[in-house]
Amino acid sequence: MSIRLLSALVFCALACLILASPRPLHAASQPLRIGVLAFLGADAAVAEWTPLIRRLQARLPDYSPTLIQLDHDGLRAAAARGELDFIITNPGHYIELEASLGASRILTLDAGGGRAPERALGSVVIVPRDSPLRSLGDLGGRRLAIVSRSGFGGYQLVWGELALLGIEPERDLAGLHEVGFPMDGVVQALDAGKADAGVLRSCLLESHPDWSGRFRVLSPRSEGSFPCATSTQLYPDWPLATLSHTPAELSRQVAIALLGMRQDEDGLAWAVPADYRAVHELFRRLEIGPYAYLRAPTLLTLAERYWPWVAGFALLIVAWIFYTVRVEHLVQSRTTALREALELREALETRMRNAQEQAEHLSRLSVLGELSGTLAHELNQPLAAIANYANSLIRRADNQRLTEDAVREAASEIAGQAERAAGILGRIRAFARKRTASRELSPARELVDEAVGLFRGMLAQAPQVEITDELPPGLLIEVDRLQIQQVLLNLLKNAWDASRTQPTARQHIQLHLDIARDRLQIAVRDYGSGLDECARERLFESFFTTKADGLGLGLSICRSIAEAHGGRLVSAEPDETPAHGRSGALFILSLPLPARDPRNT
Ligand code: ADP
Repeated sequence: MSIRLLSALVFCALACLILASPRPLHAASQPLRIGVLAFLGADAAVAEWTPLIRRLQARLPDYSPTLIQLDHDGLRAAAARGELDFIITNPGHYIELEASLGASRILTLDAGGGRAPERALGSVVIVPRDSPLRSLGDLGGRRLAIVSRSGFGGYQLVWGELALLGIEPERDLAGLHEVGFPMDGVVQALDAGKADAGVLRSCLLESHPDWSGRFRVLSPRSEGSFPCATSTQLYPDWPLATLSHTPAELSRQVAIALLGMRQDEDGLAWAVPADYRAVHELFRRLEIGPYAYLRAPTLLTLAERYWPWVAGFALLIVAWIFYTVRVEHLVQSRTTALREALELREALETRMRNAQEQAEHLSRLSVLGELSGTLAHELNQPLAAIANYANSLIRRADNQRLTEDAVREAASEIAGQAERAAGILGRIRAFARKRTASRELSPARELVDEAVGLFRGMLAQAPQVEITDELPPGLLIEVDRLQIQQVLLNLLKNAWDASRTQPTARQHIQLHLDIARDRLQIAVRDYGSGLDECARERLFESFFTTKADGLGLGLSICRSIAEAHGGRLVSAEPDETPAHGRSGALFILSLPLPARDPRNT
């Protein structure tokens, strides 16, 4: 074993004993814990930071400095738990801890050799010498080998440059190939053809002469005195930072101790803290680290990203609002139209009802008018009788034969005749009165008798009216008495008109009362002139009449009265009789029975 190799081994063993362990170097005194981001592995970290530990040991004898190597997450967690007094990490990680844990830089590494502390870090994108790629702008659609997505010099600096060119690596590259530390993996990935380009920290290429021969740098920039190639802007070097709980006096002592280190003597030097705004700007642009919140979708960013959907949705909403308003408007206008139509119908119905009542009234008056001659004759009888009795009283008085009994008898006869006349007039008046329809429960037979009585009372020589009654005794119907009497009177009068010119044997009218299909049926049969085909067809038309003085309204009004009661009025083929054959006419009025009267069941 050569002396060189032996001395190297001894150095490593010593260094490991001193630095690799988190144990303090000196058992005595106070601990001074320095957390360091060890991305190149334990050996590299020990080798890199040995001068620092030696310096602190020499200058701060009361403290036992310890180097604690951690990765990104481990460093953050240990700092958060208060297990570290100082941290040394890359600028990107530092500004994250600055925002989240209050880390505060007191020094920045001074690498020397033309690398000013504030312009010491950059990255190169390398491609094999025979690659067709010429600049960073050619990377779209290519595979890029990187150390890791969280690497500052190993990825984020290049990401920043690509973003300025409008290339979003995750979206626009064919793939990001993460090789992990150490960075040699990037070169190996390129050699193996796993990537088209790779990212290295600036100056790493220059320290490996064999790499420089095989690879070239994309978009190299001229950065003044900076001694290495770079594809990116330059950023400040690693800081040494205190944490919120680090005693101020200790910070001061550490800063003074380290500021005195010299690159040429100690192999490591520190400068006063550099300006890290460039790192802040980079992270803000990339929306990572302390600026990751900018990636949280806001309404505006969402709208920008999904504008076709937003526009479609907005269109849908507008269409829906338009539709709703239109439907609402249509509903309102149709409702108004419907209400107006209903009001119009109601008004028309009222007018029709009035007209019908008027017509009924006219029809009653017309019946009365036609019967007025006989009415006068009818009244004449009681009046003549009254006059007779009065005259006989006068005569007896003149002859002094007036006895009390004779006066009583004559007076009671006069009163009786006067009552008869008043009865006739009362019925006529009630019949002729103009009124509105009203329904009441009435015995069916009584109603028919009254109508027949009225009819007969109006005629001087009334025809024979024969009533055959097959109704249950006391059957009630719910009708407007006067209207039904009007129908019967009309049918009786028509029957009389048709038969009074006939031989006496045919001048009789038959009324038949019975129940058929749950309805009261009143059939009026005469043996008069009968109905020819034409008359039968037009019978119920308004103003159809074959009479010289007829109005032609009677039957049409009678039918509408029957229908208003839920009944019917029809003309039927009369039965043949032995005496008169098939002559005359037959009208049938049918009316519903009221369900609620137990006597009708
Ligand atoms: P009017 O009695 O004023 O003519 P109606 O409507 O009561 O009006 O009768 C219409 C027509 O029907 C009568 O003119 C008559 O020709 C015919 N008619 C009605 N009843 C009978 C009937 N019992 N016998 C024959 N014809 C009749």
